[in-house]
Amino acid sequence: MISEKMVGYVRNSSIIRAMFEEGKRLADIYGAENVFDFSIGNPSVEPPDEIKEALIQIIQEERPNLVHGYMNNSGFEDVRAKIAESLNQRFGTQFNHENILMTVGAAGGLNVILKALLNPGEEVITFAPFFGEYRNYVSNFDGELVVVSPNTETFQPNLEEFEQKITRKTKAVIVNTPNNPTGVVYSEQTILALVDILNKKQKEFGNSIYMISDEPYREIAYDGVEVPYLTKYYNNTIVSYSYSKSLSLPGERIGYLVIPKELDDFEDVAAASNVANRILGYVNAPSLMQRVVARCLDAKVDVENYNRNRELLYNNLVSFGYHCVKPQGAFYLFVKALEEDDKAFSAAAKNHNILIVPGSSFGCPGYCRIAYCVDYNMIERALPGFEKLAKEYEHK
Ligand code: PLP
Repeated sequence: MISEKMVGYVRNSSIIRAMFEEGKRLADIYGAENVFDFSIGNPSVEPPDEIKEALIQIIQEERPNLVHGYMNNSGFEDVRAKIAESLNQRFGTQFNHENILMTVGAAGGLNVILKALLNPGEEVITFAPFFGEYRNYVSNFDGELVVVSPNTETFQPNLEEFEQKITRKTKAVIVNTPNNPTGVVYSEQTILALVDILNKKQKEFGNSIYMISDEPYREIAYDGVEVPYLTKYYNNTIVSYSYSKSLSLPGERIGYLVIPKELDDFEDVAAASNVANRILGYVNAPSLMQRVVARCLDAKVDVENYNRNRELLYNNLVSFGYHCVKPQGAFYLFVKALEEDDKAFSAAAKNHNILIVPGSSFGCPGYCRIAYCVDYNMIERALPGFEKLAKEYEHK
C-alpha cells in the first residue's frame, strides 16, 4: 500500500506529462507531421556547440576523480567560484563560492531551499498563474502554498492581494520572471513595489520573509527587455537558476542556488541547504555537468529562434481573434480560452491535433498555455487548425 500523500500526487500527476504522452500516441495514428504538440517546455533549440566541445575536452583532459568523484555536497569549489565571478561581472554583485550551491536543476534547487526553510504549516506565497509543481514542492515539506489571484489584464503580480495574504506564518514568496506560463517579465518598478511590501511586513511581524527567485528563463527575453537581478533589491533573496532552458540541457539536471551573505541567518541557511541537497538523495549535482557549465559560462542558445516563433504565433493568433498578453520572455503564450472551461477548450483543440495545456494546471482557469519551443514549420502547419478552432467558436 502506498502512502496516502502519494495517492493524491499520483491522482493529480502532471497533466503536461500526460499530454506529452498523448502527442506521441496521436503521432502514431496521424503521422508526426500532422500532430502539433505545444504541451511541454522542452527546448527546441540545440545546445551551443561549446557544450559538446567542453564535454569531449573534459573527458580527455581531466583526471577521472575530478570528473566522476564525490565532492562537497554543494558542488566543486572551483566551479562555484567561477559561477560567482561570472555573476559578479554581469550584475555587479559580490558573490564567492560560498554563495553558490550546485543543484539538480531548478526543481532540485527549489526542493533544497524549501527543505532548508520550511516548518510544517508555514506558508509560501506565489502568484497565479504559476508553475504547477510549486504545489508539490511546498507540500513535500508540509508547507502551505498560498496563491495570489491573477491580474488577467497584464499578468503582472496582484500586489494589493499579496500584501493582504502575508501573515505571521509566511516564510517565503516564490517569484518567477520571465514567467511560466505567461512569458511576462516583472519590471523594476514592480519589483521595487513588491520589495517594499516585504520590508514592511518583515518589520511588522519581526520575521524573515525570504524571496525565492525561480529563474530558469532569465536568458530567454526579447526586445532588449531588462530582467532585474533580485538579490540587488532585497537582502533576503535566494536565486534558483537552471541551465535547462538557457543552455537547452533539461535532461542533464544542472543548476544552482545563490545564497547571498546578506541573507538573514546566512550561515544556517547555507549549511542547511548543503545538508538538504545530500539528504534529499541528490547528494550533489551531476559532476560532469558542473565541469561543463563552468567552461561554458558565456555560451548562449540562439534566442532569435524562439523570437521568430513568438512573432509568428502571436501575430497570427491575434489576427484569428485570440486574446493574449504578448510575452516578453520564456517560450510560452498564455491565451484566453474561447469558452469558460479551459479543459473543454483544450479538448476542442485536440480535435485539430493541437495539444495545449489548460490554464487550471497553472492556477488560472479560463486560459491555455501554448509552448512555442518547437519547430517554426510546425507552427506554420498548425496555424490553419488554430484558425478553424477560432471559427468554430464564432457561431457559439
Ligand atoms: N521552474 C519553472 C518556472 C519551470 O518552468 C521549470 C521547468 O519547466 C522548472 C522550475 C524546473 O526546471 P529544471 O529543469 O531546471 O528542474
